[in-house]
Amino acid sequence: MPEYALCPKCGVRAYARDRFSNGHYCFPSQGGCGTKFPVEIKTFNGLYYHQLPINNFLSVSITAFFHDFYISKANGGSPFSELVLAIKSHATDDVKNDIANIVREDLKKILMIDSYRGKTVYIFVVPRSKPDSFWREEELQFRSAVMVGIKDFQNVIDGTNAIKRVVETQTTHLAHLDIQNNGAAPYPGITQDTCEFNMNICGKDVILIDDIYTENKGVDEDCIQFLINKKARSISLYTLGMTKHNM
Ligand SMILES: [Zn+2]
Repeated sequence: MPEYALCPKCGVRAYARDRFSNGHYCFPSQGGCGTKFPVEIKTFNGLYYHQLPINNFLSVSITAFFHDFYISKANGGSPFSELVLAIKSHATDDVKNDIANIVREDLKKILMIDSYRGKTVYIFVVPRSKPDSFWREEELQFRSAVMVGIKDFQNVIDGTNAIKRVVETQTTHLAHLDIQNNGAAPYPGITQDTCEFNMNICGKDVILIDDIYTENKGVDEDCIQFLINKKARSISLYTLGMTKHNM
């Protein structure tokens, strides 16, 4: 019999390792919701988190927080997933406010963690796949929503515009099939090769923010490694969504 834990999604004690995959499963036989999790996901103050494993892109394991699962339209979608899509592609002022509020509340929770107490934290945002000039204004509002979300914190340094993509790379999001998708697909070191960054973060504590984390893409991992190589003391990742695959 497996040890059942509380499900991060429905809260029922029906969550355990699934012997048919490497992930976790919320067992309906135990009254659970049937959600399959690709990795072991835990919660802290109502915020989801998991550990990013070491891989080709990443030399150390990093804690990754996220607000909720991102479910693509093809897999049924969700109101939260709609909001995340909106901030990426057709942001209005209302969407920006909603996202800023989510970032603010989640950052409060992250900064309650003991290891952040009394420290100054640098906030960076993973750059989009192509330089800003490529995008329409309403496709560039995630960074400004983050900026609004973090502005009232003491001990937070705003680096939302510090990592600038200057060379075009391939977008990994299929929603953009209508665009010319030039440039390299993610490879280890692509952030270093295609971005400008002029801040000294040696010995600093960093939280890197992105809109959606998707496993096995390497985009966020490479950006984390880029900051590790700049000698940041600690890094964690926070994203609005984590892609939930149709399993
Ligand atoms: Zn559940």
